[in-house]
Amino acid sequence: AATRSEWVKQCRAAYDALRKRPAVTRDGVSVSLNINAGLLADLPQMQACGADGIGLYRTEIPFMVRSTFPDVDAQTTLYKKVLDRTKGSPVVFRTLDVGSDKTLPYLRMEDQENPAMGWRSIRIGLDRPSMLRQQLRALIRAAARRRLDVTFPMIAEVSEFMAAKDIFQLELDRAKSRKEPLPKDIRIGSMIEVPALVWQLPSLKGKVDFLSVGSNDLIQFFFASDRGNPRLTGRYDTLSPAFLSMLRQIVDICNDADIALGLCGEMAGRPLEAMALVGLGFRNLSMSPSAIGPVKNAILGMECEPLREFVDMLCRSSDHSARDKLRIYARDHGIAV
Ligand code: PEP
Ligand code: MG
Repeated sequence: AATRSEWVKQCRAAYDALRKRPAVTRDGVSVSLNINAGLLADLPQMQACGADGIGLYRTEIPFMVRSTFPDVDAQTTLYKKVLDRTKGSPVVFRTLDVGSDKTLPYLRMEDQENPAMGWRSIRIGLDRPSMLRQQLRALIRAAARRRLDVTFPMIAEVSEFMAAKDIFQLELDRAKSRKEPLPKDIRIGSMIEVPALVWQLPSLKGKVDFLSVGSNDLIQFFFASDRGNPRLTGRYDTLSPAFLSMLRQIVDICNDADIALGLCGEMAGRPLEAMALVGLGFRNLSMSPSAIGPVKNAILGMECEPLREFVDMLCRSSDHSARDKLRIYARDHGIAV
C-alpha cells in the first residue's frame, strides 16, 4: 500500500499534469476557472495552478494591514503591480468591503448590533464617497491603457449600483479632463450578496457588465444564518434545494438578459458544489488557488445535459440537502469529487 507521502506525491503529479488542460466537460462545455486573491503574494498562484485570471481581488486586505489609510498614490502603485504581475489576464477588483468581520484600525466605527447587516461595504462607500472616489481614481490610473474590471460589494438595489457607477463615471471624467491616459476597456459589475438584488436582476440589463455571486454572504442572508456562528455550522447547506433554486433563478435571468455571470464564494472551490453549479449553468467560477486542480478534475468528468436535468430535479425536492444525492450521482458517473 502506498504511504501517505507517496499518495501526496501522486496527487501533486496528477494536478501538475492538469495545469495546462482547459476545464472542459466531456460534452465540450468550457468553464472558466479563476482564483480569489487579496495580496500580491497570492498572484504567482494564478499561473502556478493554471487559472484563467483573478475572479475576485479583495482590495480590503492591504487596507487592513496598514495603520493609516493608503493614499491614491499608494493604492495606484499597488493596483499597478497587480495588473503587471497578472500580465493581461482579467482581474476583477472589488471595491473596499469593510465593516462586519473586516475592520480598519483607522476607520472609526461605532458598535453595531448586527455588523454583517450594518454599516459596511458599499454602504460606507456611498456615505463616505471620498474613500470610494480615491480608490476608483487609483484603479483608473493603474489600469491606464489596459483593461479594468471593477465590482461593487453588498449591492442591495439597482439604485445603489447606479450611484456607485456614477461615482466611477465622475472619476473617469476627472481623469479625462486632466488628459490622463485611460483604461482601454472598462467593465463595471456587481456582487450578488444580498437576496433583494435577485428580484431586480432584470432591471440591471444594459446597466451592468457582469455579476458575481458572493455565495458566502448570499447564503447567510438567504437563511438568516450568521456565517461566523459555530452553533449554526451545518444547520443549513449550500446544497439545499432552496439555495440551489435561487442560484438557478439567477442563472436563468442572467442568460435571458445576456449578463455575464460568475460565482466567487467558498462553495465554488469544493468539487461537489462546483458540479452542482455547472449543472445549474454557471460557466465562470472563482476560488482559492488550491481548489483549481480538484475542481478542474471534476469538470473533466462531467456531462452537462444529464447533469442539468438531475440538478433541476434536485431543486424541486424537499430534502434538507441535495448533498447525498449529488455524491451518488458523481460516483455513478465517474466524476471525481
Ligand atoms: C462572498 O460573500 O461570497 C464573497 C466572495 O465575499 P467575502 O467572502 O469577501 O465576503
Ligand atoms: Mg461577501
